[in-house]
Amino acid sequence: MRLGVPKETAPGERRVALVPETIGRLPDGVEVVVEPGAGESASFADDAYRSAGATIGDPWPADAVAKVTWPAPDEVPRLRSGQALIAFLGGSGAETLPALTQTGVHAFALESIPRITRAQPLDALSSQATVAGYKAVLLAADRLPRFFPMLTTAAGTIAPAKVLVIGAGVAGLQAIATARRLGAVVSAFDVRPAVAEQVRSLGATFLDLGVEGEETEGGYARELTPEQQAEQQAALQERITQFDVLVTTAAVPGRPAPKLVTEAAVRGMPEGAVIIDLAAETGGNCELTQRGSEIVESGVTIVGFTNVPSLMPTHASQLLSRNVAALLALLVSEGELKLDWDDEIVTGSCVTREAVPA
Ligand code: NAD
Repeated sequence: MRLGVPKETAPGERRVALVPETIGRLPDGVEVVVEPGAGESASFADDAYRSAGATIGDPWPADAVAKVTWPAPDEVPRLRSGQALIAFLGGSGAETLPALTQTGVHAFALESIPRITRAQPLDALSSQATVAGYKAVLLAADRLPRFFPMLTTAAGTIAPAKVLVIGAGVAGLQAIATARRLGAVVSAFDVRPAVAEQVRSLGATFLDLGVEGEETEGGYARELTPEQQAEQQAALQERITQFDVLVTTAAVPGRPAPKLVTEAAVRGMPEGAVIIDLAAETGGNCELTQRGSEIVESGVTIVGFTNVPSLMPTHASQLLSRNVAALLALLVSEGELKLDWDDEIVTGSCVTREAVPA
């Protein structure tokens, strides 16, 4: 069986779905065909793929195609019935879905893989959120006109930066850990009280905003009521004046990002403060966030980049590639594509299927 790895064409996308290191971890009997230059922007040269056993060529005729995001409209006709496609298939690009369905391709959406314990090695949402949380703090440190750590110098002592992380899921916990490693004093808040212990174990303070949400069976937050949301906005507005950096990651699956940081709250932040809004893709946690852009309002820098993992493409691709290999291990048996429709991971992540004759 052949696995094709195309070069990504979406603007700003620097990741690749399979890196050379993973080729040796693929199920037996899988041969890899990589489009010329597919890994270049993630620092994986064609020669590295060749050395790992891949061939460089046209990836589209393969039995399965692994991509980072949606195929472009001119790539969709290159897919065919019965073939498998693995990619992130949410967000911008969703207008491609009807055309994709028409091809009869079995499309597996990485973000739809059920987040059950058995699926952890396949959890591309978590692997990319880890990268985003880390990089968000580096983006903030780069823009902040202050040090993160406390410094004692001959010229006197510098106070450490104060960082607030809102949303302590996968990205938020990584942001907390990274900001702590850089020496900042870190506080965090999440509506799920269960994460308070994890926040404290990373050396951060759990901020009490007097708002407590509910947790779903899958470990996600439920959307707050409008009253709770207003309460949270008011409590934040009062406390936010103390912080130099705000990293927001709050999300509720299937819903627009909750608006937590009002325009008035931004105006209350210190001059030079930085907000990194990792929820920008789904509308942003801050009222002033501009999707995909970096702006300065009232002396506060607000970064609303939508594809933060792609800013660290080597490791983002390496982790994603391991997720893709783990999914392929479920889809391939004895060197052939064998889709087990009784497996909840296979059915849960499949968003288009080959038409079954009546
Ligand atoms: P996410 O990206 O959907 O949300 C990020 C965080 O925002 C969550 O912690 C959520 O509680 C928080 N949030 C939502 N509304 C908020 C508000 N108004 N104010 C403050 N915070 C708010 O979540 P995620 O990071 O992908 O994962 C969340 C949780 O899901 C994990 O911590 C874990 O418990 C569970 N999970 C389980 C698995 C697994 O078992 N395979 C894998 C990944 C995650």
